Amino acid sequence: MLRPEVLEKLECPSVGMATSWTIGRKSVPFDNLEEARSLFKRNNWPFAKGKIAKSNSKAVSLREQANAAYKKDPNDTTKALQLYNQSICMAEEGSADLGLGYANRSAVYFNRKQYRECLHNIELARQHNYPAEMMSKLGDREQRVRQQLLEKDISDYVEENIPTRHCSIKSCLEVGEGGQGIRTNRSLEEGEKVLLEKPFVLVVEAELAYQRCDYCGSSNEYNLRPCKGCTAVMYCSEECQDQSFQRYHQFECEIVDDLQLLFRGPKATRMFHVTLRLFWHVVLLFLEDPIEFLRRVETPVELEKYCDPFALEPSDYVLHLLATCRDSEHNTDDIQERTGKCVSQVMAILMYVIAVEENESLWSRLNEADGSKKLPFLLFRLVQWTDRLMDHEIEGVTCFYPFTRLLRHSSTPNAKQSVEEPLQSVVVLTCPVVQGQEITTIGKE
Ligand SMILES: [Zn+2]
Ligand SMILES: [Zn+2]
Repeated sequence: MLRPEVLEKLECPSVGMATSWTIGRKSVPFDNLEEARSLFKRNNWPFAKGKIAKSNSKAVSLREQANAAYKKDPNDTTKALQLYNQSICMAEEGSADLGLGYANRSAVYFNRKQYRECLHNIELARQHNYPAEMMSKLGDREQRVRQQLLEKDISDYVEENIPTRHCSIKSCLEVGEGGQGIRTNRSLEEGEKVLLEKPFVLVVEAELAYQRCDYCGSSNEYNLRPCKGCTAVMYCSEECQDQSFQRYHQFECEIVDDLQLLFRGPKATRMFHVTLRLFWHVVLLFLEDPIEFLRRVETPVELEKYCDPFALEPSDYVLHLLATCRDSEHNTDDIQERTGKCVSQVMAILMYVIAVEENESLWSRLNEADGSKKLPFLLFRLVQWTDRLMDHEIEGVTCFYPFTRLLRHSSTPNAKQSVEEPLQSVVVLTCPVVQGQEITTIGKE
């Protein structure tokens, strides 16, 4: 057995551990997941559980560092804003330090002549305990901003209309034969944009946590707001914060720093975190109605109904994955397949123990429900497909695009896929396509 002190030095502890177990077993998969679970002991995982608590003294220190960075170079505000954001994340709820962080951020905007952002931050400072004795300073700034705005074009006040739909797909597209690929049911011209979709789930790199929204991934150091419960994530809007909480942060907040350790290492390791975020959708569906959910996933004719993703609501995409991602063969001679299966078994167990079993509030909810023992198997099914589901080549984030991922590759493709800001996957035809033809892109190596 690998010693914890050795594991700790592995660049990627979780996959490193899964790989070393696999090598130790000569790539023979466990007979079943329960066997893998029974061999796994807590001390195999070298990290103690723990959550970084909010701390006003740390918030003060970060704010001072931000002030110094801003003073040093007022024209380059990236570093200062990042530190202010970190300070805002660290400040305890109800403390004046939260208000002071927002107020300092508003000063940066004032000097950058970004008046709308400045006002927004002044408002946040007021709502979050900015000290009463300093309020006149904030009031002065606000007056000067309003004066500037009066002199400027009034259009500065018009809020941009941000589309919130997850994707836009040409209605002629449908799933291909045998549930494979995407084809069109009418002819299309070269240059037509056939698919536009935002990531359904994504994970932001830890070093960008104070620059990007943890839900939509948009780069926005200006108005990010912190999670009230942890120091690791920020959001660009209340809507993103609510969506994130409903869809996964309600499960992750308590273990957010444990997850950082679980998925640390080369960027590709974050694919497993995206898989875990997809798995939270499984947990949500399960908690909603355990018996009905298990009936659906365990009855083949029921699960069959989720094979066509074009006919589904986003909340059911994960059922589509469970319906189409098959477990690998157990008795295969293919050494690569056996190795992949064994690594996936250990990864799934590790993720299940750290993220689910040791997640106190979730575990007590799950334990009350019959059938929760089935959940690790569903996580395992997703883990096996991790590398084929995710796009990890985009800088700073790892994404799951439910429709883009269905496109098959060809050496003579008829479409081109690219990712445009803000993280939108766009598929454009590079030549005319006739009715019934499959849409393909060039494969990534
Ligand atoms: Zn957002
Ligand atoms: Zn949180």
